[in-house]
Amino acid sequence: MTNKELAELMFPNITKTIEDLEKEYPERGENVTVTRFAPSPTGFMHIGNFLSVVIDYVIAKRNNGVFFLRNEDTDQAREVEGAVEYIMHVLDHYKFNPDEYEIKGGVTKGNYGPYIQSERKDIYKVFIKYLISEGKAYPCFMTAEEMAEIRDNQAKAKVRIGIYGKFAKSRNLTPDEAWERIQAGEQYTVRLKSEGNFNHTFIFNDLANGEMKLHENDNDTVIYKSSTELPTYHFAHLVDDHLMRTTHVIRGQEWMASVPVHYELFKTFGYKMPKYVHTPLILKKDGDQIRKISKRKDPEARMTFYEENGYPIYSVIESIMTIANSNYEAWRDGHPDAEFTEFDFSAKKMSPSGALYDLDKLDNISKNYISRLTKDQVFDFLDEWSKEYDKEFNEIINKDVDYTKAILNIEREQKKPRKDYAKWSDVKPAIWYMFDELYNPEEFAWGKINNMDEIKSIVTNYVENYYNPDDDKETWFNRIKELTESMEGYTSNMKEYKENPDAFKGNVADVSTCIRVALTSRDQTPDLYEIIRLLGKDRIVERINNLK
Ligand code: GLU
Repeated sequence: MTNKELAELMFPNITKTIEDLEKEYPERGENVTVTRFAPSPTGFMHIGNFLSVVIDYVIAKRNNGVFFLRNEDTDQAREVEGAVEYIMHVLDHYKFNPDEYEIKGGVTKGNYGPYIQSERKDIYKVFIKYLISEGKAYPCFMTAEEMAEIRDNQAKAKVRIGIYGKFAKSRNLTPDEAWERIQAGEQYTVRLKSEGNFNHTFIFNDLANGEMKLHENDNDTVIYKSSTELPTYHFAHLVDDHLMRTTHVIRGQEWMASVPVHYELFKTFGYKMPKYVHTPLILKKDGDQIRKISKRKDPEARMTFYEENGYPIYSVIESIMTIANSNYEAWRDGHPDAEFTEFDFSAKKMSPSGALYDLDKLDNISKNYISRLTKDQVFDFLDEWSKEYDKEFNEIINKDVDYTKAILNIEREQKKPRKDYAKWSDVKPAIWYMFDELYNPEEFAWGKINNMDEIKSIVTNYVENYYNPDDDKETWFNRIKELTESMEGYTSNMKEYKENPDAFKGNVADVSTCIRVALTSRDQTPDLYEIIRLLGKDRIVERINNLK
């Protein structure tokens, strides 16, 4: 039996040829940039995946290219329920809408599909059949136990681990022997009959990591499994990125080690390799240490973290762009209003040794961003977030939208706005005291004036004699000064006070603090004048009456 006959027996239903497929999926055109996000639905999306998506998207958009989504579900045993839906959700949430994609059992957009690997079985088989018929791949019957034994022996003998050379036991089976075993019902894999020589090197140019000298692959790598009729990642990468005409593969650093296999696979078929960007590992500062960010230990490694906490999409994307390219922040300073896709991303400016991700930095970016939003924008974002993550608060802020917006507008829409919200979950803890439904003071942080009779007399005096809802800010402050002066043992003259603080019960700032704490139970708040104005007389009187 010839190899060709073996291939025919193994895949009798595969009648298409590679040439047929080449015609079905033609080149997309000379200068079309094509990137793809190709997640495996074996877990929930993490920040490393997200870094790849951002780069995929920026590269495609910068070049008016195509960005497509491919579901790499070949490892079906490890598939996690809901993972695909979550990936789609994240893309939608951050507005990284793929130009081409497929929803299982639903729509397909694009002419290069199917975009779900488990639906591409027959396509892969065309390529596998070809390799077998050319004698460039072979069925392998090694069991897991046999392979484990080889690995152990190699480790003991301190030789390179792998199925190469003499360790590739099925490599020299004749087509007849192979067919006999297949017919006997033995499970098999298909392995590439590697022609590489580990002692030879080749030059690989990674856009982020630069030029590298790598050893050739000489492993008879598994490319297909009869048990699932699906290819391994390596082979699917070759077939899919070739037929889908991907020009740039952006993927995690962990795939770097597989480059020699991919290099050999592309060479075997005479295909041009796409350009590669192996993204850096995302690192985190942990005490004095810098370590790899961990999905298990670090909540911020999971993409759910950002949505649950209510980080604006702008802030998250910005923080990722700053780790993607070292000159992004400088560019942003000069282009505060530009879209991030206008930035001239260069893979060369990535940091191959690892990218340090820092939540403080994200908070900073986000505080600046939110501070520049209008009260209407802030309200809309807060409304949208709280609808999902804090229903009670959502109802409260919607009872009197104008009141809520006025609160959100304290020290906003001005030249130097207040920067106290990094995420929407920061809002409630900052303004809860403005809402009767939430006002339930537990502990008062009284300042210098902390005698309850004294406090009550100050605030009552304020409401009865010095409060006027129509005052402008200056008049309001002058009245607080007058109130201070009117009381025995207090002064509004700070100079006088500082010269001899023990001679006074308090100064004008202490009196303000006293009013602030009495009304909000907080000793730190945004502008007290605005707070008093917004609370209004009824609330003020009620809170004063309830002082305990
Ligand atoms: N499915 C692979 C992963 O999730 C894709 C890597 C790639 O982008 O090629 O790691």
